[in-house]
Amino acid sequence: MSLDLRADLHTLFRRIVDCESVSLHEEVLADAVQTALVALPHLEVTRVGNSVVARTVLGRSRRVVVAGHLDTVPVTGNLPSWIEHRTDGDHLVGRGTCDMKGGVAVALQLAALLRDPAKDVTWVFYEAEEIAAEFNGLAHIAAQRPDLLDADLAILMEPTDGVVEGGCQGTMRFNLVVPGVAAHSARSWTGHNAIHDLAPILSILDSWQQGDPLVEVDGLTYHEGLNATMVSGGVAGNVIPPQVTIQINYRFAPDKSAAQAEAAMRRLFDGWEMAILDLSESARPGLDRPLAQSFVAAVGSAPLPKYGWTDVARFSALGIPALNYGPGDALCAHKEDEHCRLASLDECAAALGGWLATDRSAQGNGPTGGAGRSAGAAQRNDVAERAL
Ligand SMILES: [Zn+2]
Repeated sequence: MSLDLRADLHTLFRRIVDCESVSLHEEVLADAVQTALVALPHLEVTRVGNSVVARTVLGRSRRVVVAGHLDTVPVTGNLPSWIEHRTDGDHLVGRGTCDMKGGVAVALQLAALLRDPAKDVTWVFYEAEEIAAEFNGLAHIAAQRPDLLDADLAILMEPTDGVVEGGCQGTMRFNLVVPGVAAHSARSWTGHNAIHDLAPILSILDSWQQGDPLVEVDGLTYHEGLNATMVSGGVAGNVIPPQVTIQINYRFAPDKSAAQAEAAMRRLFDGWEMAILDLSESARPGLDRPLAQSFVAAVGSAPLPKYGWTDVARFSALGIPALNYGPGDALCAHKEDEHCRLASLDECAAALGGWLATDRSAQGNGPTGGAGRSAGAAQRNDVAERAL
């Protein structure tokens, strides 16, 4: 398996997709990525497990991380990939096309073409994003070589359909344990029904939904969620249940730290025994920074909030503002017919490549949308010239 990074972008994309790389089986693809990048004299390449980091070291005043994961969820008869002609253009269909080998293809090609970018760039291709956090390649790099991730801004090329999505919401899952007293249901008054005692908890959840779940952070509006997701308990059809457990998931906006989210939940459910199952930090969108603003201007469309949890939170934890931006519609990620419009790769390559190639961010706040678009056209030519 070898990769020609200067091949046509769509050809490169398809080759990457057809190199199966389900989580924990990224080695072949990681080897190919490493080999292709090591051949480029303008990059310093480091391997950490099956993750590959390639950096320009040009002494620029700004450094940007562009990151993407190499792994996919399991293949379900959807490889090798195939092309479908649709009303909005040609799509590549198959595992990994949407999440997120389109972003990987764009980043790899730009890594090869941008020999002299105006911002130093750290290209990160990492393993095991789709499985438990202990395997996550980005977390391993952060633990072993945090210096490699040092930057002024990180762009994670998860599928966003070519729109900048800022930050991400945090998530907290916890159980509330409601005690009762077991008894024969024929003499129920000698016990205490734990299931009936769920009523006040459900009422709290219901009134929370009636409240205002919208939170504005750095100009983006996040919609929080607080929902019961599972209930378990009960012994038999003729036994008054002595205990019931309700699992609750809180998706919180990035105006709160994980500790603040936990404190809010403990206040809301004061009096019940709470067992926290997992708690992940949110990430602020960081759109108040001039560098992020100049990238938003280069992309040219209004940024949106990110609702799911993504690895931008890992950058945020390192003090690096991070955005999500990449080809593909996140709504079709992980589906059997996941797909990506081929032209969306060209659009992302033009916007991201043009922005990295020029130094408008050094001027402080980005240009207006109109100026951004015309500058974007000039940058596209610039990238095209580099490609020749
Ligand atoms: Zn992904």
